[in-house]
Amino acid sequence: MERRHFLRQAGTTLALASTAGLAACARQPVAAAVPQDTPVLPQARMVSGEATIAPVKASVDRITGVYVCTRPFRAAGPRIEAERLGRKTVVHNYGHGGSGWSLSWGSSTLALRMAQATGAREIGVIGCGALGLTSALLARRAGHPVTIYAKQLPPDVYSMRASGVWTPDSRICDEQHESALAARWEEMTRTSHAMYQSMLGIPGKPVEWIDGYSLSDTPPGQGPAEPDDEPDYGSFRDSVPDLTPHSVELPVGSTPFPQPYVRRFTTMMFNISTLARTLMSDFLAAGGKIEIREFTDPDQLQKLPEHTLINCTGYGAKALFRDDSIIPVRGQTARLIPQPEVTYALSTHQFSMIPRSDGLLVQVLNDTGNYNNADTTPRRADSEAAVRQIADLMTRLRKS
Ligand SMILES: Cc1cc2nc3c(=O)[nH]c(=O)nc-3n(C[C@H](O)[C@H](O)[C@H](O)COP(=O)(O)OP(=O)(O)OC[C@H]3O[C@@H](n4cnc5c(N)ncnc54)[C@H](O)[C@@H]3O)c2cc1C
Repeated sequence: MERRHFLRQAGTTLALASTAGLAACARQPVAAAVPQDTPVLPQARMVSGEATIAPVKASVDRITGVYVCTRPFRAAGPRIEAERLGRKTVVHNYGHGGSGWSLSWGSSTLALRMAQATGAREIGVIGCGALGLTSALLARRAGHPVTIYAKQLPPDVYSMRASGVWTPDSRICDEQHESALAARWEEMTRTSHAMYQSMLGIPGKPVEWIDGYSLSDTPPGQGPAEPDDEPDYGSFRDSVPDLTPHSVELPVGSTPFPQPYVRRFTTMMFNISTLARTLMSDFLAAGGKIEIREFTDPDQLQKLPEHTLINCTGYGAKALFRDDSIIPVRGQTARLIPQPEVTYALSTHQFSMIPRSDGLLVQVLNDTGNYNNADTTPRRADSEAAVRQIADLMTRLRKS
């Protein structure tokens, strides 16, 4: 149960490895002057002499948008394979569940290798989400003339609605397919991880490492039961313990949080607006081309000039290639007005908060009714409830 709970929280449970090396604690409240006529906000607090817990201005009137998309989940894992269709070779690169950004570089490296095996010089990429952008950029960097063909571009693609955290095994396959996918998953994960390290520290911070706090009223391993309407997913994290710092259980009572059990984790975060823009600009600057084009039937691909295509249509592959193995797993996030001073993530059993530069991203966790649900209508009330929970948490931060 604990294992499934961990996997569900795409975006924040993150790095549950060891509890070694607890830091000594000193709580140091930081005073802040508040004018008389403004609402009193909780003050910044220190956690164990580590990060400053700047208060989140959590109020529903600060929600800038509520976004829904469907994770393209396949029980067997992503489809990365070449198929001959008429005069074309189509290399499929879709179906990455809740891990598309995390695995993008690794998966696209495999797809490009298959495309290059055809001996083709020109390569067409169908789709301009996380997988299309990384496939196209890798192909361009390898010297191929590349055109992206896509119905929609960022910011209008599903990838822009992701949480933006390193979650390489979130809803990536079901438990039955775990061992068959293991070796390929590890290769993709290590390739992606290495590529993301090369994107640290560049303008706009497309990629950052951040700390976060996982809060609980119950001791580790004794959390509330989770909803049971999703399958048991494959879990691979134990096979790459060297990629992410281990999480640390902080001593009870040593933090400003009202919950007694607090675990600090460290994870990579993707500032998706900047990341997508960086990938797109790099592709265009390297001479890549983009054409807006919608395909309603695979036969239409025969009219493209390139003989080798990489198919990165994500959830769109279900309709275009009539792939019924793709199951939509609905996900909803809300963004609050950015607060650059908030540099930490938070998660509880009910919600997560990610401190992205394009807005504090709030996600409801452990809700039901998402599996095999293609309804992308936003349910604002759910996001407002999560924001109110964060507001309540902020008012209960302890002073000392
Ligand atoms: C709530 C939520 C949170 C998530 N959080 C994370 C996270 O923190 N980390 C992570 O790694 N992953 C996360 N994911 C998963 C991630 O968002 C997806 O795996 C990823 O976006 C899939 O990318 P893609 O490029 O395959 O698809 P898309 O982004 O959907 O791109 C598909 C592209 O193909 C084009 N296309 C589709 N059909 C056609 C057609 N018929 N003709 C022409 N063009 C077409 C589209 O216009 C688009 O350009 C999350 C998902 C959800 C729902």
